[in-house]
Amino acid sequence: MSKKHNFSAGPCILPEEVFQKSAEAILDFNGSGLSLLEISHRSKDFVAVMDEARAIVKRLMKLGDDYEVLYLGGGASLQFAMVPFNLMKSENGKAAYLDTGTWAAGAIKEGKKLGTVDVVGSSKAENYSSIPKDYKVGSEYDYFHCTSNNTIYGTQMREFPKVDTLLVCDMSSDIFSRVIDFSQFDLIYAGAQKNMGPAGTTLVVIKKEILGKTGRDIPSMLDYSLHIAKESMYNTPPVFPVYASLLTLQHLENNGGIAAAEVRNEAKAKLIYGEIDRNPFFETFCVKEEDRSLMNVSFKLTDESKKEEFDNAWKEAGISGLNGHRSLGGYRASMYNAMPIESVQVLVDVMKNLN
Ligand code: PMP
Repeated sequence: MSKKHNFSAGPCILPEEVFQKSAEAILDFNGSGLSLLEISHRSKDFVAVMDEARAIVKRLMKLGDDYEVLYLGGGASLQFAMVPFNLMKSENGKAAYLDTGTWAAGAIKEGKKLGTVDVVGSSKAENYSSIPKDYKVGSEYDYFHCTSNNTIYGTQMREFPKVDTLLVCDMSSDIFSRVIDFSQFDLIYAGAQKNMGPAGTTLVVIKKEILGKTGRDIPSMLDYSLHIAKESMYNTPPVFPVYASLLTLQHLENNGGIAAAEVRNEAKAKLIYGEIDRNPFFETFCVKEEDRSLMNVSFKLTDESKKEEFDNAWKEAGISGLNGHRSLGGYRASMYNAMPIESVQVLVDVMKNLN
């Protein structure tokens, strides 16, 4: 069976080399005669994996010793709760959130359980089709939370606001895809299952000095400080997702790092948006050009009578995972780091042939 052009939003395409090496490690890890899946997480070989998986993130992000890197379980969704547990003051806690989509709203919901949440900007009224920009965040807040890329709607924050408090960002769907000054953030988190690896682990990058200031008694498993003290091994870590994430990040580092990935991602985005703008049968959900996501291109037909013809054509071309999120409908071409431009060209050719 020939390989599909996989536009899935996540879990999603990863470099072929990562699939190969992960499969080898499952059968025989480092020539040890043991599978990666049957060794202790405290073994020398796995501790080395965790150490390098943490170190490579700081190299790629150009961050110094003031930051710590964790690989946790529970998905990005658990971070919706861990962030307020660790950063919102126990008394009169108050945080500012930007509401740019379903996942941002999920974070807001959890924040409200621990204190006051002010939504300082929201595009909900226009079905999240752009990124709000006119808002200010003052020092009365414990932190500001935003979502860099809105996986469902295909919008992305190009710039991050200067805020007078801690800057926290959910980068689940665009981490490592573009050059950013990561040192402007106090806390970054991302579910691995898009640009980093398989589902099952979540990357958390934290500026150490922000912790321990809430006066809260934090449940152990939710306490970043404890995970840091135990070097991301407080309990059994998700060993396979961490290993496969390390392989993906090594692949990124060996192929020019984030800067080179950005060039490839921009070329892919230019190709597909160029076709959507040219082709009268298609339009994007995102209404402002400057807010278009380079990772998830959410689009729809302008003429629904073309649906069957288009659906048949992309399936015949070996394309998979193009349906939009169930809440939005339409289509979504997710073009994460591992997606080759050749696959995007296949989709664009199918779009071109619609008439
Ligand atoms: N944030 C964003 C931006 C996402 O795209 C997703 C999942 N697609 C989540 C959070 C939730 O991630 P998880 O399923 O790992 O909890």
